[in-house]
Amino acid sequence: MSEMDGKGHAVVIGSGTAGLSAARVLARFMERVTVIERNWTPHGGQQRPGILQARHPHSLTPAAEAGLEHLFPGIGHDLTRAGAVRIRIPQDILVHGPTGWLLPGKTKTSLLSAGRDLMDAVLRERLHAEAKVDFLHGHEVVALHPGRNHTITGVWTRARSRGTPKNPGPRRLLPAQFVVDASGRSFQAARWLAELGYPRPVETVVRSRASYACALLAPPAGHISSWKSLLFTAAPGTPSPQGQLTLVEDGRWSLSLRCGQGTAPPTDHAGLIRTAAALPHPLLHDVIATAAPLGPVHTCTRTDSHWRHIERLRHWPDQFLVTGDALAGINPAHGHGMTLAIHSALILEHTLKRHGTTTGLSHQLHRTLARHIGATWRQNTRTMQPTADTQNKPATWRERLTKRTATHTETTTTTDAHTAMLLPEQTQTPTPHSPLDPRAPRTART
Ligand SMILES: Cc1cc2nc3c(=O)[nH]c(=O)nc-3n(C[C@H](O)[C@H](O)[C@H](O)COP(=O)(O)OP(=O)(O)OC[C@H]3O[C@@H](n4cnc5c(N)ncnc54)[C@H](O)[C@@H]3O)c2cc1C
Repeated sequence: MSEMDGKGHAVVIGSGTAGLSAARVLARFMERVTVIERNWTPHGGQQRPGILQARHPHSLTPAAEAGLEHLFPGIGHDLTRAGAVRIRIPQDILVHGPTGWLLPGKTKTSLLSAGRDLMDAVLRERLHAEAKVDFLHGHEVVALHPGRNHTITGVWTRARSRGTPKNPGPRRLLPAQFVVDASGRSFQAARWLAELGYPRPVETVVRSRASYACALLAPPAGHISSWKSLLFTAAPGTPSPQGQLTLVEDGRWSLSLRCGQGTAPPTDHAGLIRTAAALPHPLLHDVIATAAPLGPVHTCTRTDSHWRHIERLRHWPDQFLVTGDALAGINPAHGHGMTLAIHSALILEHTLKRHGTTTGLSHQLHRTLARHIGATWRQNTRTMQPTADTQNKPATWRERLTKRTATHTETTTTTDAHTAMLLPEQTQTPTPHSPLDPRAPRTART
C-alpha cells in the first residue's frame, strides 16, 4: 500500500503519546482517522485530567525524539519553541551515583525535558493541522464492534458531559476498518473481547515497590547554576530514596523523589524536603529548600511493569491493534515508556508500508511488537530494576550476569571516564536497535 492511496476509516482510542503517534502513521495510509479521547482537552499545555502520570516530570530519550522527528519532522524545534528544555548529557546534568559523582565528560546525547501536557499539546497541534485527522474529545469508547471473519469493524462510544461524568450520553457506533487501542493503563479491551468470546491474553507482571512524589517549584529569584538537572541515584536494593530536579518549561523546576522498598511517598512540601534530606548528598535538599512550591505534591504508586502477551493468542480479532502502555507498561525508573510507544508507531508504519491493512495484520503486528518490547522489557525489569520481584522466579545465570555488569558499570562511573560516558548511552538507549535502524527487526515472517 502506498502512502497516497489510503482507504477507509481508522479509529484510535486515547490521545496519549501512543495514540497520537499511531494516528500520525494511520493518516499516511487511511482516508480518515478519528482519535477518541474520554477527557476534555484544554488548549495549549494546560493540565488535563485522565493521565495521572502527566503530573510527573517526563523526558524524551534521544531514541524517542528521533522516532518523533521521523513521524513529525521538525518536532524537536516545535517542542523547544514551546518551552521544552534540551539537557545535554552529561554537560548539563550533575549525577551522583551510589559511590559518588559521575565523572564529567562529553557525549552527543541529550534529553528533552518538559511537562507531559506540553509534549502532548505540541503533538496534538501537529495532528490538528492534518486534514485527515479528527478528534472526538469527551467521548469514551465502551465496547468494540465485531465484524465477520473475526474482525473488529468499529467502536461503541458514549459522550461524557463536561464536569459530570455520571450522566453519560447514549451509545453510538463509529464504524472503522482499523482500530488501534492506545488507552494506556486503563485498557479495557480484554474484557470487551472476552464478552465476545475471545480468550484473555496472559499477562506478565513485575512487581515494583517503588513510589514517586513530584512537585513543580520556582527557583529563587536570580538563581544561576551550571546545571539544568540534578540526579541522585541509590545503590540497587537499598531503601534509600532517589531524587531528580530538572528544569522544565517557563523556567520552573520539576522535582521527582523516588521512594523504594514500599515506603509511602511524601504528600506535602515539608515531606518532600524531609525525604530529600535522606539522599546520600545534601545538594538537592539545599537547592529545593530555597525554592517556592508552585502547586500540590502529586504521588504515584502504580509502578509495576506489565505486558499483555497478545502475540501468544491464536484467536484475536483482525484489524485491531493494542499499543503503548495498554500493551506493555514499563516501570518509570528510566523513562522508556514514551520511547516504546513511539517506536511501536514506527513498527506500525513499516508493516502498513509492506503489507497494507491485509488479513492477518493484527497477528503479524503483535508478534513484531512483542520482539521489540522484549528487548526493552528485559533491560528495564532485570538489568535496571534489580529490586523488582520478577514473579519470585530464581534469577537465571544471564540475569545474574547482566545485573553484576550493571552494578559494576554504576560503581566504576566515578573512577573511570570511559565508563562514565557509557552509562548515559546504556540507560538512554532502551532497545538494541531503534525501528529507524536498518538492522532492527521489521515485520515478523508469517
Ligand atoms: C511517574 C511516571 C513517570 C514517567 N516518566 C516518563 C519519562 O520521563 N519518559 C517516558 O518516556 N515515559 C515516562 N513514563 C511512562 C509514560 O508516562 C507512559 O509510558 C506513556 O504515558 C504511555 O503513553 P500511552 O499513550 O500508552 O498512555 P497514556 O498516556 O496513559 O494515554 C492513554 C489515553 O487514553 C485515554 N483513554 C483511556 N481509556 C479510554 C477510553 N475507553 N476511551 C477513550 N479514551 C480513553 C486516556 O484518557 C489517556 O488520554 C512515566 C510514567 C510514570 C508513572
